[in-house]
Amino acid sequence: PPTLLWLRHDLRLADNPALHAAADGPVLPVYILDDAAAGRWAPGGAHRWWLHHSLAALAAALERAGAPLLLLRGEAATLIPRLAAATGARTVQAGRLYAPWARARDEAVAKALEAEGRTLALHNSGLLVEPERIRTQQGKPYAVYTPFSRAVMALGDPPPPIPAPGRLKGVKHPCQGEKLAGLGLLPRQPDWAAAFPEYWTPGEDGAGARLRDFVDGIAEGYDRARDFPGEDGTSRLSPHLHWGEISPRQAWHAAGGIGDTTARQTFRKELVWREFAHHVLWHNPALPEQPLRAEYAKFPYQPDPALLRAWQRGQTGYPIVDAGMRQLWRHGWMHNRVRMIVGSLLVKHLLQPWWDGAAWFWDTLVDGDLANNSLNWQWIAGSGVDAAPYFRIYNPIMQGEKFDAGGQYVREFVPELAKLPDRWLHRPWEAPAEVLRGAGVALGRTYPNPVVDHEAGRARALAALRSLKGVE
Ligand code: FAD
Repeated sequence: PPTLLWLRHDLRLADNPALHAAADGPVLPVYILDDAAAGRWAPGGAHRWWLHHSLAALAAALERAGAPLLLLRGEAATLIPRLAAATGARTVQAGRLYAPWARARDEAVAKALEAEGRTLALHNSGLLVEPERIRTQQGKPYAVYTPFSRAVMALGDPPPPIPAPGRLKGVKHPCQGEKLAGLGLLPRQPDWAAAFPEYWTPGEDGAGARLRDFVDGIAEGYDRARDFPGEDGTSRLSPHLHWGEISPRQAWHAAGGIGDTTARQTFRKELVWREFAHHVLWHNPALPEQPLRAEYAKFPYQPDPALLRAWQRGQTGYPIVDAGMRQLWRHGWMHNRVRMIVGSLLVKHLLQPWWDGAAWFWDTLVDGDLANNSLNWQWIAGSGVDAAPYFRIYNPIMQGEKFDAGGQYVREFVPELAKLPDRWLHRPWEAPAEVLRGAGVALGRTYPNPVVDHEAGRARALAALRSLKGVE
């Protein structure tokens, strides 16, 4: 009988321990679109676009290797045991998942399989270090990044990646699968993903090419360039890592080829942030839904659909924020520094709940990731472990002037301000009337006035913070 290879967030052939374990005999690779089990954490819109193309690439690669992919839609907790029974598979091989809903599903699948004498074998395919593996000296999970990072670094290099298997021995599919197009993952009208392909190549080959481009060139100076959103200065591997088109072990080892040692170290530390997010989520399954610092449950947010909409559409009147939100819409991705600036404006100046921001990111990001998104939003909101102190409020004007001084980023994504001189680009409301006129900007008409005055927003956020007891 074949081994079932249940692919989830490890959509690759190389360095795939579950595939490696399944590859010595006949193998049936299967992917199941299971929105019901994921519930509100089913992939968002941009995510689904990515998944469509990633599955197309994976199916082609598996076909070439000799074991065509079976695509199904429905409840995996029922379908996997049924497939195992239909094929007589004794073992189901899969990569581990860390989201609470996926853990519950794996437990149910394992139990159903065991009842029939079969096994679900889970492998670490997505992390450098499994969440249980490291603990503080007191035997507790880590709650602070720096000591966590030190502990991960002290382990040294992770095991080297496993090469892709050679020829696989496929089997006849026991049932008819779905056609990829039938899964309906692509946007209907309007096609908001029209610009995505200029920017992204989902799939293992695209991930490998991006990793090489990064290591061979972009990474030089990463330590500095990664803060400037107008530069192509970061790896842009986040969606590839999220879907497991490359593993963090591959990224880690490839980073050994970065000549600039500071850049290599900084990049690896970013990979460790991803590890930290998964560690925290594993030990705190409520991370996506509840503030980890209990006192923040009473934070006096003031939900306002009009303000939320202005933020979502990139119409806040703060150019760096609007550029970020429009980059997100156009490319399904936003530069990390700008994610922090837009997040801070939403949660602090506008007093909108962090989970509304996280939900918008979830729907629009191609790299939307439950661990990374939740951890980072709670970090911005001040309610997470090891969070930014709440009183640290990003100033969207100064941030723009510091990190987009030449205005490349704002000019690309907010073209209606493109002709403003640098001096006024991040504060158009202060520009003299003739400068605005000369640049074709009519505030309130071609571009909004700020939705909130920076100083007033900041003062209101600090007052809201003071209303919480026990928060310094
Ligand atoms: P690089 O700078 O090249 O970093 C390499 C890799 O390290 C990234 O691909 C990513 O996997 C990891 N990494 C880098 N920074 C972080 C971080 N702060 N936290 C966790 N992992 C990190 N990242 C996601 O992958 N998915 C999300 O849903 C997500 N939501 C975010 C929400 C907010 C409010 C903020 C502030 C950050 C969020 N991030 C998220 C983290 C970070 O912005 C992205 O991982 C990064 O911008 C991806 O670009 P890159 O691959 O070029 O990063």
